[in-house]
Amino acid sequence: MRIVMIGSGYVGLVSGACLADFGHHITCVDKSAAKIDALEAGEVPIFEPGLDTIIEHNRSSGRLDFSRDLAPAVAEADVVFIAVGTPSRRGDGHADLTYVYAAAREIAAAVTGFTVVVTKSTVPVGTGDEIERIFREEFPDKEIAVVSNPEFLREGAAITDFKRPDRIVIGTEDPRAMEVMREVYRPLYLNEAPLYFCERRTSELIKYAANAFLAMKITFINEIADLCEQIGADVQKVAKGIGMDKRIGDKFLHAGPGYGGSCFPKDTLALVKTAQDYDSPVRLIETTVAINDNRKRAMGRKVIAACDGSVRGKKIAVLGLTFKPNTDDMRDAPSITIVQALLDGGATVHVYDPEGMDAAKDLLGPVTYGSDPYEIAEGADALVLVTEWDQFRALDFKRLKGLVRTPVLVDLRNIYPTAEVVRHGFSYFAVGKKSEK
Ligand code: NAD
Repeated sequence: MRIVMIGSGYVGLVSGACLADFGHHITCVDKSAAKIDALEAGEVPIFEPGLDTIIEHNRSSGRLDFSRDLAPAVAEADVVFIAVGTPSRRGDGHADLTYVYAAAREIAAAVTGFTVVVTKSTVPVGTGDEIERIFREEFPDKEIAVVSNPEFLREGAAITDFKRPDRIVIGTEDPRAMEVMREVYRPLYLNEAPLYFCERRTSELIKYAANAFLAMKITFINEIADLCEQIGADVQKVAKGIGMDKRIGDKFLHAGPGYGGSCFPKDTLALVKTAQDYDSPVRLIETTVAINDNRKRAMGRKVIAACDGSVRGKKIAVLGLTFKPNTDDMRDAPSITIVQALLDGGATVHVYDPEGMDAAKDLLGPVTYGSDPYEIAEGADALVLVTEWDQFRALDFKRLKGLVRTPVLVDLRNIYPTAEVVRHGFSYFAVGKKSEK
């Protein structure tokens, strides 16, 4: 099949490369000249483990190419995916669909013959209807089916998620489009990947409902963590104890600094806004959004409390900036708010992240970027572990003890057993468990 992917970011590039790996011919399009130039020069503009190898392999097999101009590729295509960004709209928090509709208009102008246009971007309920309306009004003679096919991959594990998904949701009732979508995912289907067909509006809502549920699960355990700290219980043991119940499940029960990233914050907010517009408010999610917003700043206060109530004039070393490990994505990362709270408190902040520092430079205030955890630890009054990169999981505490000014570790991801840290003479502050001074 000939497939075009409009938008070559975290979703478009991974989806395009993986679909090429299935044997389809893919053109990945992006408006950003810098991205396309990099890709054509053999560079991968984002950090996603394993992506470079798949791109390289499929490029050399002639199944994957890149372009800034969608028209020639769309004219030949059986399927066109829209994978452009849908950020929060400034001012009201609704999903900003400017990029989606701009892409849709360009696609429609270029289409020849029956073409399936698929929204892979996360778009609010009714977006597919609106795209269809644009096509019908502006290009009444063209044969286009509009399908919703939301993406559920996680950055950092995107390739496995795309190739071994729990489900592939496809929103269409058009039999021709169903056939085409079956063909797109046929290589997966042989591996029994469950294709789940439903109406387009249902499919659009599934994506928001899934993200909102996961955000709520994280927020739930974060509140339980706060309670644990007050009553002297251990949130990790609570999470294990409840997670062994199959109705609850053990995933997404890790207490931490609050959810961030390019999806949960904007998608929960967009769902809240959609629900309000339909006069059917989702109060659980409204509360989830509010709790999570407050939590990030509260993590800054937690660090300040660990430093005996003040960070003024102190040096704080922040380990990890990205919203999770194995990505360079800094969008809505909790580190941004935490670092700001520390700067506001008068601290000097030194930071290190294995992949996120370039992206962080546009988002963080006046901090110093280091080259490894030990360099930033020198003379520090506290180490704050914000993102659980593998390289932070086995820190050399003996060495660190010799470098820091005050041996304090605030572990916002609970990756260390308390005893191990305390054994090396550090005070240990985690999330939802007793602190040890
Ligand atoms: P991104 O910002 O990394 O990539 C979007 C790309 O689209 C950019 O490179 C941009 O230049 C390009 N673009 C915008 N308008 C264009 C146009 N008219 N023509 C060609 N290119 C255009 O975004 P992303 O993280 O890949 O997210 C894309 C969508 O997928 C969003 O709706 C997001 O909510 C959803 N999603 C993201 C993830 C994730 O983990 N990042 C997971 C599931 C779903």
